[in-house]
Amino acid sequence: MATETSNAAPVDKEDNWGYDLYPERRGEAPKAKWWQVAFFGDGRNTLDRTECEKNVYYCFQNSPLVKLMHSALKASGCEIDLRRHIACEVCDVKVSGGYDPQLNQVVVCQNVARSAGMVQGILVHEMIHMFDACKHQLDLKNIHHLACTEIRAANLTHCSFVSAWAQGDASPFRIKQQHAECVKTKAIGSVIAVRPDVTKEEARTAVEKVFQKCYNDLEPIGRRVRRNSPDMIRAFNERVNYGYE
Ligand SMILES: [Zn+2]
Repeated sequence: MATETSNAAPVDKEDNWGYDLYPERRGEAPKAKWWQVAFFGDGRNTLDRTECEKNVYYCFQNSPLVKLMHSALKASGCEIDLRRHIACEVCDVKVSGGYDPQLNQVVVCQNVARSAGMVQGILVHEMIHMFDACKHQLDLKNIHHLACTEIRAANLTHCSFVSAWAQGDASPFRIKQQHAECVKTKAIGSVIAVRPDVTKEEARTAVEKVFQKCYNDLEPIGRRVRRNSPDMIRAFNERVNYGYE
């Protein structure tokens, strides 16, 4: 469920739920490291938060994909209130965002996600987890459920952007294969990012087991979106087909 920034495995083996990656979730404000205080001063976190909240607000106003996910959630009976369900926080630099199933909140990592484009990617990814939690009784403690929702998030967002960049001379068959490989790799990375107790092999086995079913489930976006293509707008315009306003 975390949107990870690197392939590095998280360090804390005792925290099965990855909350160590989100220090503010544990009710304590993360202490600034000496170099952060030395170079940026204490005001840095406040500035980051304001900037992050501005980007979140911008995405909810302007991003067709975020707006689509917003209406999809509403149509499924899980309406989002920006102040209640989206939180900008300081996170471990290994992750850029996350979904907290207990509080039903999306976390945007203000210290990592510094552009509207990046915030958009995080919001859509985590809102897919939120959608699955709302609509499909997602149990994130079940590794197959976790693998499935990570496959769906990678499939509908990240990998579709990446495959578009590689499209130039590749054959359609190869693109399809590359896309599926991208989704697998990304989903395995996300599973081990939030479940440090799971090995890469266990994550791979879980992803393979549910892959076909979850890869083919394109709800609620309805298509694999290519970056800077009319797909984004098209998906938003077709939302009525799925019963969203
Ligand atoms: Zn995720």
